[in-house]
Amino acid sequence: MTEILEAVTMTAATTDECIYCGKKEKHENKTKKKEPDLTTVESLPDNLQCSHIKLNVPIPGKYTKANHHLIPVKQCFLKVKRLAQIALSVNYNINSPTNGIALPTVCNMYEHDGKTQNFGQFSPAVKDGIAISMMQETGMQWHVGHHAYQLNDTASSDAPDEGEINHLPYDKEVQKMLVDICIDFYRDEHCQSDEDKSDKIKSQIDDICNAIRNKLNAFAKSPRNSAPFYVSKIASRYAFTS
Ligand SMILES: [Zn+2]
Repeated sequence: MTEILEAVTMTAATTDECIYCGKKEKHENKTKKKEPDLTTVESLPDNLQCSHIKLNVPIPGKYTKANHHLIPVKQCFLKVKRLAQIALSVNYNINSPTNGIALPTVCNMYEHDGKTQNFGQFSPAVKDGIAISMMQETGMQWHVGHHAYQLNDTASSDAPDEGEINHLPYDKEVQKMLVDICIDFYRDEHCQSDEDKSDKIKSQIDDICNAIRNKLNAFAKSPRNSAPFYVSKIASRYAFTS
C-alpha cells in the first residue's frame, strides 16, 4: 500500500482530484491559496541569498561559493509532483533563503602545478586532491558535479574505493523525505479542516530544509555526520574513506 502511495506522489494530481488527500473529489478549504501550476516553478539560486564562506571575494584557483538548494528544485521538488502541488497551493517559496546554503565550489580559471586551465581539464586524481583539500579547509562539502551521482560503480576496476556507503545519492535521499512528508499530508487530510493549514504546511517543509542544513553543517565536525546527505560523489567518498 505504501509503495503504491509513494509512486502516486511522483505523479501530478489531476484536475478532478483533491491535491491534499488524493481523493477523486474536490474539497473546498481555507488552506488553498491558489491553483498550483508546476510549469511556473523556476530554480533561482541567487534568491537563496547565501552568505559567503570565509572568503569575502572569490579567489581564482581557490574556491567560491555555490548557492545550493537544500531541496533542489528540478531534481527533487518538481519530481515529487504532489508535494510540489501542495507547496505551491499555499504559496511556498522554494527559492527562499530557508532552502539555501553556501557550499564551496571551484572558481575558474584554476591554477595548479604551473598550469592555468578550466578545473574540468585537470586529471581526476588532481581534481579529487583539490576537492579534498578544499573540504578540509572549509569543513564543508565540495559542490562540484551532479547531485544525482552513481554510487558503487564497480564496472571499472580502476574506480576508487568508495568505502562502506550507507546512503543513496543526494537527489534520491531528498526525494525520499519529500515523499514521506507528502504521505503525511495525505494522512492529515488538511482539506477536511475548517482551519487554514497553509502556515503549518509551509513550516513542515521548512523543517525538511533545516534538517538537511543541519546534516550538511555536521560535516565540519566529522564528514560522516552528514549522512545520508552528500551533495557530490567526492564528498561522500571523502567521508567514507578517510
Ligand atoms: Zn481532500
